Amino acid sequence: MTSTSVDVVVIGAGPAGSVASVVLARQGRSVVLLEREAEPRFHIGESLLPYMMGLFERIGLREVLASHDFVPKFGGEFIDPTESKFFSGVFRADFAKQGEGRFDRAFQVERRRFDRVLAEQAAADGADVHFGATVTALLIEGDRTTGVRYEENGEDHEVRATYVIDASGRAGTIANRFGLRRTVEKLRMVAVYRHYAGLDEKHNLGVAGDIQVGAHADGWVWAIPLSEDVISVGTVMPRGVLAASTPAQVFEEHVARVPRIVARLTGTHPTMDLKVETDYCYHSDTVVGPGWLMVGDAGCFGDPMFSGGVLVAAATAVRAAEALGAALDDPTCAQQQIQAYSDFFKTGYDTYIRLIHAFYDGELVASAADAGRTTSQDMLERYLIRLIGGDFWSEHNAVAQEMRKRSEWDTFAPFQRQFGCPAYPHLDEADRKERVQARIRRAATGS
Ligand SMILES: Cc1cc2nc3c(=O)[nH]c(=O)nc-3n(C[C@H](O)[C@H](O)[C@H](O)COP(=O)(O)OP(=O)(O)OC[C@H]3O[C@@H](n4cnc5c(N)ncnc54)[C@H](O)[C@@H]3O)c2cc1C
Repeated sequence: MTSTSVDVVVIGAGPAGSVASVVLARQGRSVVLLEREAEPRFHIGESLLPYMMGLFERIGLREVLASHDFVPKFGGEFIDPTESKFFSGVFRADFAKQGEGRFDRAFQVERRRFDRVLAEQAAADGADVHFGATVTALLIEGDRTTGVRYEENGEDHEVRATYVIDASGRAGTIANRFGLRRTVEKLRMVAVYRHYAGLDEKHNLGVAGDIQVGAHADGWVWAIPLSEDVISVGTVMPRGVLAASTPAQVFEEHVARVPRIVARLTGTHPTMDLKVETDYCYHSDTVVGPGWLMVGDAGCFGDPMFSGGVLVAAATAVRAAEALGAALDDPTCAQQQIQAYSDFFKTGYDTYIRLIHAFYDGELVASAADAGRTTSQDMLERYLIRLIGGDFWSEHNAVAQEMRKRSEWDTFAPFQRQFGCPAYPHLDEADRKERVQARIRRAATGS
């Protein structure tokens, strides 16, 4: 068995693991990134949010992403014939309307390609990246995790590390080892999906490149263009709905309920069998411990509605890498850095999952209306589109503020919120002033 020693070992080369490795390697840390798959593989999580572009700009990855031919996404079309879950029959979140200083687009990505770009960047930046390397055990001394054991090419190896980052996604290496994972009972949804080829956006009744999300009585349907030719289509529903039927039947029935998506699929044909995803609604109240941190899906995931998974995974990865960088430089501040990271992690997931609860509880419109009492119509639209675009850590987003008042939407046990936008930190102060001015204007006009 070989044994090496590094600053940080990262479990899993999904977006969270690769992004954490990029940031740490660029700090000059020694990093080993271990991925069990032999190469980046098919994964769900194909629609990105515009706040991701701000985050990637800040860490020097936006141009790397933009240099590949991923489909630009300028907005999200939310379809709700009942008008009870969204704002009108067809509501478009136009990312150009977020207000100044924010990127007006994101990308739709085929994950195999996207994950490869990020993992290759981590290697180019100096991380020691291993594919086909499965972490099989944590190394533990006393109460501290001091590294991992992994299997590669049929042989066992050990990496000792000052810190272990668990970015193993739903596999949840650390959460499962310490029994920390809890199901979010209210959100026990399942997804059935597949890709279609032969896409022609001339059949799209909305805007080319947009994600479409169509609500109906038993859940919702997504349509995400992945290239000029290919589109991903999925249906999300409570477990009981699938249990009472078959994947093929619910898929066909649900897609047929959203005529705008049916229209977009004109002339397409499926390129894969239906896939089913279950058990993806969970969290852990403890996301850091002696010698380790969880990032991304390893610690929490709620629901794909609003496409926030990759953003929160990448943002928590960046913050974890920054916290560990500071802790490695000055071990006396390690505890404070890591606690602040834990609160940051929970602030982001908590806000994202509130948005999801608001949708399923039919309270999105009401939350926006509540926020509307303290801001103008113009600003309200901005806050809402920002939130849909990934504004999960801003203290001053009026719609998020309203949602944070709802204790029935709490995900974690009480924690200290750690605000501060990871994508646009330079806009935090401008956001605060914008909110104060909106209040003053309303008070002055008495409206
Ligand atoms: C139905 C559905 C639809 C979704 N749609 C979207 C969307 O449109 N947009 C969006 O942003 N998000 C979406 N998501 C969420 C998104 O898929 C995840 O949030 C995102 O992939 C999390 O990234 P991650 O890096 O944390 O984990 P992952 O991407 O899961 O990466 C974890 C990696 O760890 C590796 N690993 C696991 N165990 C080990 C081990 N023992 N040793 C070594 N490696 C290991 C895995 O092989 C994997 O590569 C969706 C999720 C679901 C369920």
